[in-house]
Amino acid sequence: MSVAFLSHSDCGLHDTGWEHPEHTGRIRAIPSALKYHPELFGALQHLEGRHATPEELALGHDSGYVARVRELADAGGGRLDPDTIVSSGSYLAASAGCGCVLDGVDLVMRGEASSAFCAVRPPGHHAVRDRGMGFCLFGNVGIAAHYALAKHDVQRVLIIDWDVHHGNGTQALVEDESRIRFVSMHQWPWYPGTGAREERGPHGTIWNVPMGPGLAPDVYTQALWHAVDDATRDWTPDLVLLSAGFDCLAGDPLGGFTWTLNDITSLTEALMTRTNAWCNGRLVSALEGGYAPEQTAAAVMAHLHVLARHTHSFDIASVAHD
Ligand SMILES: [Zn+2]
Repeated sequence: MSVAFLSHSDCGLHDTGWEHPEHTGRIRAIPSALKYHPELFGALQHLEGRHATPEELALGHDSGYVARVRELADAGGGRLDPDTIVSSGSYLAASAGCGCVLDGVDLVMRGEASSAFCAVRPPGHHAVRDRGMGFCLFGNVGIAAHYALAKHDVQRVLIIDWDVHHGNGTQALVEDESRIRFVSMHQWPWYPGTGAREERGPHGTIWNVPMGPGLAPDVYTQALWHAVDDATRDWTPDLVLLSAGFDCLAGDPLGGFTWTLNDITSLTEALMTRTNAWCNGRLVSALEGGYAPEQTAAAVMAHLHVLARHTHSFDIASVAHD
């Protein structure tokens, strides 16, 4: 089995303009970087995802909001807030981004891929039930968690969010569902201002880990796994979803964390070790933030190398010296 690498050409239709940090160059940098990693070719199945349907998007959002985004795009576009743009192609882009993550869930749950990475935009983890915000239109990962419960033999979904910003939208989409647990580590105080440690949700299924900027990388790493291990004590997930925001890297223009590419490798390794033990390695990872495009693409490569190492078909020796 191989790693599903899911993307959709429509993700480029979300036109925010080149001055916007979340521009289409972020997503183009990833296939450009892949060209320099031929050792990954045999380990990845490149797949174009589908568009999520309005009914699927309504697993996480009010159907009126989903319709509003579509109408705004059809009318030529506008803004949901000062940072969050809808262009004429944005509904196609955002529904394709979400559809890739849903396809990732299907592939991993059917045993057709060992894990999945979804190279998608716009990101999703800030979109709340009735409103997009923070560059996000639809909550891809939160929707995917509900989809897994509805469509597959899944009773417990763990979501980990290591984007430097609090996944307030994911929290809003999943906190009422006791079968989903959510761990978010994020810079604090920072956008969007939510994610205090005391925010546990109505069922106590939310673990927020607010952290100051500029700490030693290991401090972030230990805090994240401490929360994940607490969330999974006596509770074993059937599926793990990762909000893979790479604005957690040192040097990102929108964050102050200090992780390096080597940390992304070891974080992914630690995640796969746990996911293998919990649920046979069933991980669906979806791109969130990451606003230095080349660095984000390099982080995706580091992340993919580890996912590839955890398939049976990959020649481990070929990446041992990366
Ligand atoms: Zn972010």
